[in-house]
Amino acid sequence: MTKLYDNVDHLDTNASAAYTVETDVLVVGAGNAGMEAAAAAKEAGANTILIEKEKTINLMRVGLPSTIVDQRLLETRADNSGATLDWLEEKVLKPNGAHLRAEADAMVTNKAYQAFPTENDPTFDDQSFTSYGDWFLEYQEEHGVDLRFETILVNLIKEAGRVTGALVKDLVKDEYCQITAKKGVILTTGGYSANVDLLKERNPLSLKKNVYTPRSNGAGITSALNVVAIRDDVQG
Ligand SMILES: Cc1cc2nc3c(=O)[nH]c(=O)nc-3n(C[C@H](O)[C@H](O)[C@H](O)COP(=O)(O)OP(=O)(O)OC[C@H]3O[C@@H](n4cnc5c(N)ncnc54)[C@H](O)[C@@H]3O)c2cc1C
Repeated sequence: MTKLYDNVDHLDTNASAAYTVETDVLVVGAGNAGMEAAAAAKEAGANTILIEKEKTINLMRVGLPSTIVDQRLLETRADNSGATLDWLEEKVLKPNGAHLRAEADAMVTNKAYQAFPTENDPTFDDQSFTSYGDWFLEYQEEHGVDLRFETILVNLIKEAGRVTGALVKDLVKDEYCQITAKKGVILTTGGYSANVDLLKERNPLSLKKNVYTPRSNGAGITSALNVVAIRDDVQG
């Protein structure tokens, strides 16, 4: 039998929604992945709601990882990550006078340890680094993405074998709400490095060398596992 997970944020998954909002696409989590997913959905003509449990988007990062163990994931990244960075450069950086600059990871300066560039730094022409979170927020606003902060995923709603939306909670109003998403729900809530139980269960090796990221408690992953998701044995 499939294991069901308790809500990791201790929210009431049986709460009744005070009201329902309809949209085409619901994106959960405003990190790099969610911000691009919401922008892409909107560009494709879908009314889009992006919810984020915190008061801010997550720190924007740009860079390509150096080690990936799953060949399928490696291929997916190799095939697609360039396009997401191109999109970011064209739509968010260049209109604000910045661009991407290829850089060796960790800015290696020792000649004995030269590396080829695997990272892209958002940069101005004088090579000074720039952050781009505020520009990305402006982009979402200008293009009509409905970004709701302090709104947290409670659980996914599944009808007739299909995820049709989510129960979410407005943390400011202390109110539950149902978001019905006609075209789909995209989960971009990051990993589960802040969830020790899930790490023990799914990736115990990482407990030895885990980078704790407080926003990443695995809420999206456990919500998905509760309704549809199948575990990827390689990635955990
Ligand atoms: C110390 C450190 C340094 C790093 N440096 C780099 C770097 O230089 N370059 C690089 O490319 N990568 C770097 N990374 C990795 C990078 O931060 C991650 O790969 C990236 O943030 C993942 O983006 P994401 O959008 O998938 O998830 P996240 O950025 O984790 O975003 C997920 C979002 O979902 C929200 N969320 C979570 N649960 C819910 C919920 N229940 N309801 C609503 N919202 C929710 C979170 O608050 C968060 O805003 C670093 C990571 C760490 C820890």
